[in-house]
Amino acid sequence: MKHIQQLSPQLVNQIAAGEVVERPASVLKELLENALDAGASKIAVELEQGGMQTIRVSDNGHGIPQDEMILALARHATSKISCLEDLEQITSLGFRGEALPSIASVSRFSLATNNNKDSNAGWILAGDGGDFADGLLPTRQACGTTVEVKNLFFNVPARKKFLKTERTELQHCEAVLRKIALSRFDVALSARHNGRSCLDLALVDTEQECVQRLGQICGKQFAEQSIYLENDAQDIKIKGRISLPTFSRSQADLQYFYVNGRAIRDKVISHAIKLAYKDVLYHGRFPAFALFLEIDPAQVDVNAHPTKHEVRFRQARYVHDFIRHTIGKAIAETMPKVEQQAAQQYREVVDDYIRAAQINSALPGDDYSGIGHTDAGNIAPGGVPRGIQEPSSAYATAALSDPIVISASELSPHTAEDAPPLGYAIAQLHGIYILAQNANGLIVVDMHAAHERIVYEKLKILHQEGELATQPLLMPLTINVSQQEAALADQHQELFAKFGFQIERFGNESIVIREIPSLLQQADVNELVRDVLADLNMFGSSEKLEQANNKLLSTMACYGSVRAHRKLTIIEMNALLREMETTERSAQCNHGRPTWVQLSVDQLDKLFKRGQ
Ligand code: ADP
Ligand code: MG
Repeated sequence: MKHIQQLSPQLVNQIAAGEVVERPASVLKELLENALDAGASKIAVELEQGGMQTIRVSDNGHGIPQDEMILALARHATSKISCLEDLEQITSLGFRGEALPSIASVSRFSLATNNNKDSNAGWILAGDGGDFADGLLPTRQACGTTVEVKNLFFNVPARKKFLKTERTELQHCEAVLRKIALSRFDVALSARHNGRSCLDLALVDTEQECVQRLGQICGKQFAEQSIYLENDAQDIKIKGRISLPTFSRSQADLQYFYVNGRAIRDKVISHAIKLAYKDVLYHGRFPAFALFLEIDPAQVDVNAHPTKHEVRFRQARYVHDFIRHTIGKAIAETMPKVEQQAAQQYREVVDDYIRAAQINSALPGDDYSGIGHTDAGNIAPGGVPRGIQEPSSAYATAALSDPIVISASELSPHTAEDAPPLGYAIAQLHGIYILAQNANGLIVVDMHAAHERIVYEKLKILHQEGELATQPLLMPLTINVSQQEAALADQHQELFAKFGFQIERFGNESIVIREIPSLLQQADVNELVRDVLADLNMFGSSEKLEQANNKLLSTMACYGSVRAHRKLTIIEMNALLREMETTERSAQCNHGRPTWVQLSVDQLDKLFKRGQ
C-alpha cells in the first residue's frame, strides 16, 4: 500500500493544465482572454509551428504591477474576483486564476509586463516548467503585457504525443483567433505564423466596417447573405447576423454565439436556433450565425467548466424562447419588403392595365368587329382605354385560358423604378418559371416552389386559428389502404378533422373521405390522404403528432399548389408575385430552396460583356 502525500505545486499545476491546456490553441485562447480583460485595444499574436514551438501574445492593456507578477503565476490567484458575490456576477473572461500557472508548468514560459504608461521600463519573469528561480529581471516593455510560451509540453511527453500536425494545430489556433476577433470589434488584432501575416484586423466602429470585418472572419458570402437582427427586452438583448435560409451549410462550422462577450456552446441556444430555422432549412443543413447576447451577469453561471466554453442560464426557458422568437421573426421578414398600402396600390394599377392590355390584344388591327361586347368608341386611337369598366365575363374566361405575353412597359404605367419588389410578370418559361421585370432587372420565380410556400403559410395561419374551411366531396371517395393505415385513420378522426378532413374507416383495408380542406380542392385527394397517412404513421404517438402539425401542413401545401407545366396567365402570374410580396418567408420554399432569384441589369450586362 502506498502512503498518502501532498502533491508538489508543480504537479498540481500540471494536473490542472490537463484540463485547461489541451493544445496550443487553448493556450492562445487563455492569453487572448487575459489581454482583453486587461482592457487592451490592440493585440499582436506571433505563432511558430502551429503554436507548438512558440505562442507570443502582446497587448497594450494595463499591465501588471511589478510586485504582483509572482502572484500572477501562483495558482488560484486572480485580480478579477475576490468574493462569492463576484463569482455570481462575472463580467470578465477569466476568473479562475489558473491559466498562467498551468501554462507555465508545461512550457518554457515568460511574462513581460509594464503598468506605467509613461515608460518603456518593464519587468520580466521567465522559467521552464514553472520554475522561476531567476526571479524578476528588468526588460524593455511598453505599457502592456507580452506572454511567450515556447516548446509546449516539452516536459510532458505523454501530452505532446497527442499534438497533431503543424497545419492542424494552426487551424485550431486560427479558429480561436476568429472567435476572439468576432467578439470585440473595438479591438485591433493581428497574427503572424512562421513570420508571415495570417490575420490583420483594424479596430472598427462604423456599421460598414463591421460588415467588412465580419466578411474577413466569416467569409464574404456570409456577410452578403446574412441579415442583421436586434431585439431588446428589458433584461436581455440580442444582436448580430444570421444567414438567409438559402445560405445554409453542410456543417455547423459557421456558428458563433456570445454571451456577454464570451464565445460559448450551449444546448439550449442551439436548440432555439434550430427551431427558428426548422421550417425553412433542408434537413441536415446548418444555419450560419454570429450572435451576441447581453444578459445580466447574475443570470448566467459561467463557472460550469474549466475551459469556460459552457454556461448555465438561470432562466433557460426564457432565454430559449427569446432567441427562438427573435430569429424566427427575422427569418419571417425576409420576404421582399413592401408596405401593404403600396402593394394594394400596385394591384389596382396592374389590374387596370391588364384590362387595357386584354382589350388591346383582342383587337386585330383596326378591325373592331370581333368584339361585339366592347364599345369601339371607348378605345382611344392609341389603344388606351377610356373609362373601361369590369371586363365582361366572356372576356375574362378567354383571357384565363389563353396565356398572353405583353411587355412589362404595357403593364406598368410607371417607370421600372416604380415596379413592386418582384416586378411585373412578362412571360412564363417552360411551364416552370415566371419571368418578371422590376427596377433592378429580371426576376425569375420557381412558380411551384413559390406557390407551395404561400399555400403552406396560409394553411398554417388557418390551422392555428382553427379556421381551415372544409368542402364536402360531391362523391365520397373510397380508397384502399393498409390495415394499419385504416386503423390510424379511424383512431385519428379528430385530428384529421382539425386539418379539414372528414375520414372514416370503411372495412378492414379501406377508408372513405367525405370532406377535404377547401384550399386543396384541386388536389389529388387520393394521393394527398395517402401521404398524410404516411406522415401520421411515421410520427407514431399522438404527442408527436401535435408537433408534426407543420409537417402535415407542408405535405398538404404541396398538393394544394400549382403543378409545374400548368400554363399561367399574366394575371395569375402577377397575382402570385403580389402574394409572394406579402407572404412571410416567401423567399424560400418549404424545403429551404429559394423561390426566386434576381438577375440585375448589371449582371446581365456583364453576361453580355456590355460596356466593357
Ligand atoms: P485569471 O485570468 O482567471 O484571473 P490567469 O492565470 O489567466 O487567471 O491570470 C492571473 C492574473 O494575472 C489575472 O487575474 C491578471 O490580474 C493578471 N494578468 C494575466 N494576463 C494579463 C495581461 N495580459 N495583462 C494584465 N494582467 C494580466
Ligand atoms: Mg486568464
